[in-house]
Amino acid sequence: MNSQKKSKKHYMISSAVRELGESFRYENLVYWAKLKNIDEEDVKKELKELVKNKLLKVFFEIRCSECGAHLGDYENLDEIPGEATCLDCGRIWIKEEDLDKSLEIGFTVTEEGKKFFRPRFYTWCRIIFNRKRTVEKSLRTVFKRN
Ligand SMILES: [Zn+2]
Repeated sequence: MNSQKKSKKHYMISSAVRELGESFRYENLVYWAKLKNIDEEDVKKELKELVKNKLLKVFFEIRCSECGAHLGDYENLDEIPGEATCLDCGRIWIKEEDLDKSLEIGFTVTEEGKKFFRPRFYTWCRIIFNRKRTVEKSLRTVFKRN
């Protein structure tokens, strides 16, 4: 598989995943990118590649157009039912009318993606662990002295 080769490439979204968590909305990612002066086009390009390599999975979230309550997450648009009743306000959500204004796009890290995004996490653990060992060592020398 050529994903091995790809995994060496530095993805800016890796750091977004660390900050936003393993499941995030597109909107939040774009906001995050804006703060780092990253172009939305670059974000889109990278997302496309990560989805293609099955490291991220797209999901579609629908919300009540009246009160904003969460109505469901779906893996593709066809799965979204024609109608859904909001349990909070009782409004009936109609796909044909409400989809455009209430659809949110999100991404989840896949099992494969967790392995991919994890190396950095291990690097952090190693840094912290080594630091702890240094602290222990210096404590030991202090105690020996006493
Ligand atoms: Zn509602």
